[in-house]
Amino acid sequence: MHVSNRWSDKEAEGRSELELLVYRSNLLGRDRAVVNWKGGNTSAKWVEPDFRGRPTRVMYIKGSGTDLKTITADGFVGLRLDDVLALRERDAMSDAEMVDYLRRCMLDPSASRPSIETLLHAFLPFEHIDHTHPDAILSICNARNGEQLAREIFGDEAVWVPYQRPGFSLSKRVFEAVHERGFDKVKAVLLAKHGLVTWGRTAKECYENTITIINRAAEAIAELAKGKTAFGGVQWPKDTLSAADRRGILARVLPALRGMLSDPQRVVLHHDDSDPVLEFVNSQRAREVALVGAACPDHLVHTKYLPLFVDFDPGHPDVEALKQALQDGVTRYKEAYRQYYNEHIRQVPEGERFPMDPPGPRIILIPGLGLVAAAKDKATAVETASLYHRAIEVMKGASIIDEFVSLTPAEAFAVEYWPLERYKLTLAPPERELARRVALITGAAGGIGQAIARRFAEEGAHVVLLDLDEAGVQRLADELNAQFPRRALAVGADVTNERAMQEAFQQAVLHFGGLDLCVLNAGIASAHPIEETTLEEWQRVFGVLATGYFLTAREAFKVLKTQGIGGSLVVVASKNALLASRGAAAYNAAKAAEVQLARTLAEEGGKHGIRVNIVCPDAVLKGSKIWSGAWREERARAYGIPPDQLEEFYRQRTTLKVNVFPEDVAEAVLFFASDRSQKTTGCILTVDGGIPGAYPR
Ligand code: NAD
Repeated sequence: MHVSNRWSDKEAEGRSELELLVYRSNLLGRDRAVVNWKGGNTSAKWVEPDFRGRPTRVMYIKGSGTDLKTITADGFVGLRLDDVLALRERDAMSDAEMVDYLRRCMLDPSASRPSIETLLHAFLPFEHIDHTHPDAILSICNARNGEQLAREIFGDEAVWVPYQRPGFSLSKRVFEAVHERGFDKVKAVLLAKHGLVTWGRTAKECYENTITIINRAAEAIAELAKGKTAFGGVQWPKDTLSAADRRGILARVLPALRGMLSDPQRVVLHHDDSDPVLEFVNSQRAREVALVGAACPDHLVHTKYLPLFVDFDPGHPDVEALKQALQDGVTRYKEAYRQYYNEHIRQVPEGERFPMDPPGPRIILIPGLGLVAAAKDKATAVETASLYHRAIEVMKGASIIDEFVSLTPAEAFAVEYWPLERYKLTLAPPERELARRVALITGAAGGIGQAIARRFAEEGAHVVLLDLDEAGVQRLADELNAQFPRRALAVGADVTNERAMQEAFQQAVLHFGGLDLCVLNAGIASAHPIEETTLEEWQRVFGVLATGYFLTAREAFKVLKTQGIGGSLVVVASKNALLASRGAAAYNAAKAAEVQLARTLAEEGGKHGIRVNIVCPDAVLKGSKIWSGAWREERARAYGIPPDQLEEFYRQRTTLKVNVFPEDVAEAVLFFASDRSQKTTGCILTVDGGIPGAYPR
């Protein structure tokens, strides 16, 4: 629990007050044992000219919903301090009044809202203030005898403030408690079941005070923990199931779990079987401690108040029994969550009531297997899991030195459905059409595949990019992940290889938890008159186009059926499936096989909500590897024109006199993948500029 002092005078040198505030905040945020993801807040006070040039006392504080690790100067909100301080004279103030008042104190009226804890920072008369949620401090704040322990560790240097939801009243209480003890005596405030407040005259002094206070707590905990075992000791050794066993079980279980959790909205899963997690779930008292409640209000907004703990014996793993235990557990959890919501929402004033969140758990703990986090996207699921790492550390610290205690359900609800917390959620951009979806695209390194992957990612989808060209899909995944964090996964696989395809789908499931969309697109082309078409060529073309599409569809169906929440397959066939061109018997016949496969699967998938549709492009030369090879020469020869005139030739032969681009195909695939086509299956959409002979009938 010991944390490092990362301050560097060299790095701090020459920075303005605001830049120092950013620097200090980033240092704190970099260590998640100090500050939670998007949690904590920092401030600094100084004098600067206002818009008319008058010297004005100001306070800059973190904007609501930002993350200290990545915050920049723009993330801080400036307020006129004297206007804010006038509030210290008041006895009470509602949250709505506080928000409204603070808006009028902002130096830039168009800036985003200042932190929920602005008044706490403003009322305390210190130039630089940090409010953090460090593991070591929370271990004390969440111990039954925390107040006593804090006194033993810090003496008069720390003030203990009983739990209260942040806002006007807590800010006043903190101010009064520090004032009473003496501003020059106290170095920190410990907020019960919540966190730490520390300060200093300079940014460096403030940062170093924060680190020192945390480390004093960490050392005391280490001392108290000597000779004691966390969580009652080991129930199952960490490697009761090998990593391969865990993967094998989870590949079968995660889609089922995702199906159970995707009601009313789909979720994306993240599995974590790192050492701290496995040690926790495999311990004697894990279930009991995990079900005490959240370790910090900051956690529960993302993890919910309680996790779902599932009974499973990793010594005798039975996958079907685990699926049943998950089903029972999720059903019970949802019922309990509805009760919790209905019981507490009544206490909330009418105008401030928010509808119930989806009632499923966000953290699922399974002995032998680890933790599964569920969220609207992979990046959030990863952050939710990492918050649970913090919870494990806090529960470990508190329960080893004393007894771990949490907020009461009423206190937890008051945070979870607090309008000021809900406001942070509204800062997220609206969800795109394919948000919460996982799509596997074969041939994703090719011209059309890349365009589909980009379009899907823009629309919010998580994309599994599968191709024989492993380096190609990895490059695309890197590009997409830079723009859409954690939303792309590259998988190198040959669509004709049964084993490789099974493993590829397993990889997708283990990474995102399941699948919603599958685009069958990997392809090759060859063209020869029939008497020159070798058996090898025929089999190669059929291998990739017919067999490859069959294997992809079969594996996709397995996952979608286990999940039980429908799905959509889009088969990229070809105009050649509908209109035979001369000299390409293998390609045309294999493309026709894809169409009939798709129609058959549309029939098979219907009752499971799985739609299967077909897009038939023609002559997409831009970006296509097919067209950079022998196919171009062969096609040009077949039409008796030079290869460089093919684009114009194809344009002229369409009804609309247009060329077709990969992006046009991607648009059609998106339509079939999205809910816009939810009542359509077994259908063909041509993207060929109009070829009368290929009009589907
Ligand atoms: P492309 O060659 O640019 O892309 C195809 C991708 O599939 C390549 O990245 C390739 O590595 C991959 N691939 C090939 N064999 C594979 C295998 N065995 N396993 C895994 N991946 C494999 O071609 P494109 O133009 O993007 O074509 C995509 C699809 O569209 C194909 O099915 C093609 O038949 C169809 N199509 C293309 C056109 C066109 O004019 N480009 C027209 C109609 C239909």
